[in-house]
Amino acid sequence: MTVTQEAAVRAGTDLDVVTHWADGAPFPGSGRRFGDVYDPATGQLSRRVAFADADDAEQVIAAAVRAFPEWRDVSLARRTQVLFAFRELLNARKQELAQIITAEHGKVLDDALGEITRGQEIVEFACGLQHLLKGFNTENASTRVDVHSLRQPVGVVGIISPFNFPAMVPMWFFPLAIAAGNAVVVKPSEKDPSAANWLAALWKEAGLPDGVFNVLHGDKAAVDALLTHPAVRAISFVGSTPIARYVYETATAHGKRVQALGGAKNHMLVLPDADLDLAADAAVNAGFGSAGERCMAVSALVAVDTVADDLVARIADRISGLRVGDGRRGCDMGPLVTAAHRDRVAGYIQAGADAGATLVVDGRDRDVDGAAEGFWVGPTLFDHVSTDMSIYTDEIFGPVLSVLRVQSYDEGLALINANPYGNGTAVFTNDGGAARRFENEVEVGMVGINVAVPVPVGYYSFGGWKNSLFGDTHAHGVEGVHFFTRGKVVTTRWLDPSHGGINLGFPQNV
Ligand code: NAD
Repeated sequence: MTVTQEAAVRAGTDLDVVTHWADGAPFPGSGRRFGDVYDPATGQLSRRVAFADADDAEQVIAAAVRAFPEWRDVSLARRTQVLFAFRELLNARKQELAQIITAEHGKVLDDALGEITRGQEIVEFACGLQHLLKGFNTENASTRVDVHSLRQPVGVVGIISPFNFPAMVPMWFFPLAIAAGNAVVVKPSEKDPSAANWLAALWKEAGLPDGVFNVLHGDKAAVDALLTHPAVRAISFVGSTPIARYVYETATAHGKRVQALGGAKNHMLVLPDADLDLAADAAVNAGFGSAGERCMAVSALVAVDTVADDLVARIADRISGLRVGDGRRGCDMGPLVTAAHRDRVAGYIQAGADAGATLVVDGRDRDVDGAAEGFWVGPTLFDHVSTDMSIYTDEIFGPVLSVLRVQSYDEGLALINANPYGNGTAVFTNDGGAARRFENEVEVGMVGINVAVPVPVGYYSFGGWKNSLFGDTHAHGVEGVHFFTRGKVVTTRWLDPSHGGINLGFPQNV
């Protein structure tokens, strides 16, 4: 009997059980608690996932602790070969991973492939680790005294990820963490856990030593174990704002460095001189791609009043042409991740209508190309939304686009800057001066000029401002390298007769 079959027997199910992964192999754990994983397009329970208790967490973290000392001493040449091998395998087999993501998250296959490709960018960036990990050297900083700096791995790092990018978000972190010589424990979302195990098996095939990449599945118990365990030195978290704040406060109180990326409400400002067809295309793509379950989704479209009627009409027209359905059937938009989330999003649509916003397109009535039991809500468009309505104040995380009307650029900018989130934003305009002002004045971490989803490329860093990020380090790029390493500065003097003599004064550079 395989480890996963054994786990299924313990879980009392005929379904596959997703186990933890430690020491380069599936690890069933205590088998006391399990979660349900659904196929959102069919509404069917498809597998179960092990939920860690404190003992399971201890054993998975211990695997990372054991692997770290050897991995940190593996040469950069060898580490680079492992990263290149992982990149090649991922590139060759990403269709397999996309199928897994679509079956558990629901996003359409093209979109699943897109997230893998964006994650692969970070792997490619990490392949340059020999250059990224270089220190500095200063000869003769003082007479015949030299100074050089090193960056060394921090040790065991915990990566806690959300459901909406089961491959890309962990890949924002683990390629750099591993390249820098750390050992990692990934805690994926319990809603779509299988991608992490697929990636773990790929690392093994790429030649990564056992124990350097581990997966701990579960809920709050698994997260708390990582946040409080003394051997875990750093935490990278991505998820909703209340949990991001909790993770930041708890893990820093336990002496760890933390980057905790939170939720979002992303605005797209459309000025009167914008190309309205391009703006309407962008709003539809950014509002309804991945059913709005993206932290960089546009959920608030801020339109200057003179063009708002025209823009709303163009968006409504495009929505009617979208194919909503099973992500494996070539549709444009898939279901929401769970039945509970579908009901929550539908509740917001009702609340928006009740609050007096104009419901231009109601996604609750949408025909879909998929099973009736799937977790469907179609693209929904509200106009005349005001900033006190819950469809504006809350992160809905579904296919609901709200149009807010303003009289001017200044009013639009003030509205965006008053929002407590600051993840992404975009301005649509053909006026370079207005775009430059927006870039300078907006209080948001990632800005698009005629780009609605301005996710930075892998060699820049990803991160928001305000309630969208706790900590001061953004993900990947050079900030990621910095996060996963500690600096050390070495001052060297090779003894020389001129250095003799007694002097108790503070050392000065001469
Ligand atoms: P979530 O906060 O519910 O879960 C994120 C992770 O935290 C999961 O691994 C989950 O198991 C764990 N968790 C949940 N409740 C917990 C608790 N009480 N204590 C400890 N751990 C807990 O988020 P989600 O629903 O999976 O993902 C959607 C959210 O993530 C949205 O708010 C979205 O904006 C955000 N997100 C942000 C970014 C970003 O870059 N800022 C990127 C992707 C997603």
